[in-house]
Amino acid sequence: MKAAVWHGRRDVRIENVNEPPPPPPGQLQVKVAWCGICGTDLHEYVGGPLYIPLARPHSLTGVQAPVTIGHEMSGEVIAVGEGVDNFKVGDRIAACPIIGCHVCRWCRSNSMAQCDQVAFLGTSWTGGALAERLNLNAYQCFHLADSITDEVGALVEPFSATVRAVVQSGATAGDNVAIVGAGPIGLMALMAARIRGAKRVVAIEVAERRIQAARLCGADAVIDPSRQDPLKRALEVTCGEGFDVVIECAGLPSTILMAGRLTRTRGRLVVMGVFEEPAALDLTDIVFREKIVSGSMSGYGLYDETIQIMTDPRFRGDVLISDRIALDDLIGKGYHGLLHEKDQHVKILVRPE
Ligand SMILES: [Zn+2]
Ligand SMILES: [Zn+2]
Repeated sequence: MKAAVWHGRRDVRIENVNEPPPPPPGQLQVKVAWCGICGTDLHEYVGGPLYIPLARPHSLTGVQAPVTIGHEMSGEVIAVGEGVDNFKVGDRIAACPIIGCHVCRWCRSNSMAQCDQVAFLGTSWTGGALAERLNLNAYQCFHLADSITDEVGALVEPFSATVRAVVQSGATAGDNVAIVGAGPIGLMALMAARIRGAKRVVAIEVAERRIQAARLCGADAVIDPSRQDPLKRALEVTCGEGFDVVIECAGLPSTILMAGRLTRTRGRLVVMGVFEEPAALDLTDIVFREKIVSGSMSGYGLYDETIQIMTDPRFRGDVLISDRIALDDLIGKGYHGLLHEKDQHVKILVRPE
């Protein structure tokens, strides 16, 4: 069968690989419907390996490069391993990429994403989602609601991460929420905050296309810090209240610094951006105004809630999906499109058959 295989930096090949074996106990075999391209896939392509085991096999799964990539997937169950009773052939699913050891303190306290030996679908698992078929642990799979299409189902994984960031921020119905950076994750964080009932959701963004997308995704206001003083504008658009919660989704030194300052006294800053190097916050401001800063990583544990939120008509999959391509076009239209025409795209989905 056909798959996208990472061999090295700037060396991802579409090639024939072995079919997965019949699913072992506790696993399912899934035929992939759609797989989204994620920012981390681009990092692995341009600057990797980041999470792909190269020098030695992964301690938990034994997987080592070359590996089949892809982790933002929807699909259909085509075979069920022994001992799996909550799925049957024909079920439509979305998958969580996290694979844990089940014995460390984090796995035992329901925080598998923090597992000491964590493995991920698409970097260190036996199969990747940019392939026609793969085996997954049943605990990684979640039933898709009937009203969610296979295409939108491929957005469950990235959206779950933003749902978790909003949950972690403690945002309540009376809160003003700012989203810094309206790229794919920022737009999803915006909708997650909106649908979970924040009072106002405001995007901070400079690129014109993304400003438009933020409006379509339900932003009450958009602040363009290249044209307006963001701190002054923040007070204007929140009637003097400021932002109770700020979610940083851009991952740049300038945006994290601004995100910290935009957070009100005793407000909460949640960092989702992935930074190439350590970046600064104004720590005197954090100390004097007693701001709370936390990171947020993956949507582990919130998949069913995420799928429920996505059935809300305010979830705009149509704004998020900017292109659909075949597996053969992964490098040309997919990676190069996202790397060189960044503002033209939000999420590109790949059909791996
Ligand atoms: Zn991803
Ligand atoms: Zn563990």
